[in-house]
Amino acid sequence: MERTGQPSDVPTGKRRRFETTRIAIDCLKCGHSTSVAEEKLAYFGLDPNFSLVTLTKRLVCKRCGSKSVQTFRYQQEDGPTLVPRD
Ligand SMILES: [Zn+2]
Repeated sequence: MERTGQPSDVPTGKRRRFETTRIAIDCLKCGHSTSVAEEKLAYFGLDPNFSLVTLTKRLVCKRCGSKSVQTFRYQQEDGPTLVPRD
């Protein structure tokens, strides 16, 4: 395999596909829900192999300040939502 020497913007071992793993975050107290792309969690200083338990312990609801939040992973298609058909 040849190496071009060009830096890749895709981390090795985690090639970008048509789906993105997102983390859904739901507040159990006020019902506020949001989600974040898993890859963006690195900006929060989380380990690459973080667990959702670790994440959940750090989270506080932005709306009501409750720590009673639940998180779960899900896959989201990362393609255009509207595609013209011909
Ligand atoms: Zn809340």
